[in-house]
Amino acid sequence: MKILSSETWKNYLPVEENMLRMKQVQKITLHHTNSNPFYPYSIKERLISLAEFHTQDRGWGDIGYHYLVSGKGEIFEGRSKFFQGAHVESFNDANIGVAVIGDFNIEKVSNQLKVSLTILLTELIAEYKLERTDVLGHREYLDKLPGSCPGDFLFKFLKGFRDE
Ligand SMILES: [Zn+2]
Repeated sequence: MKILSSETWKNYLPVEENMLRMKQVQKITLHHTNSNPFYPYSIKERLISLAEFHTQDRGWGDIGYHYLVSGKGEIFEGRSKFFQGAHVESFNDANIGVAVIGDFNIEKVSNQLKVSLTILLTELIAEYKLERTDVLGHREYLDKLPGSCPGDFLFKFLKGFRDE
């Protein structure tokens, strides 16, 4: 699996003092960034603007997610997997965050995206000795409302992935 390292897009240095060491990973959580899919910006510009929001506006040590995936299935490294992310409030200490860039209440999950997510999630499950049922959608921690993160189309993909 090809993962584009964070050096390919980050234009800043993470602040390690503002992050905690990752504990033994128990869960993987799927998100969408809920960003307008019709922005005319490149994927790298979108990663940088998301990272600026997380580090400057929120004051976090780095972008909140460990992996970010484009609608075309390109996989980017986000925050180092050796640090806890900032993606599910109160459940970050042993939890890898994977976010797909876009709004998956509007966008369908393309075939390339399905292939990339299946490979990424399968490799993470193997790396941390987890089960497919350990991959949750963000909405499953909280309100469970239709439409909430990771968007209905991506959540449907995730349920199918877990049932396989
Ligand atoms: Zn989310």
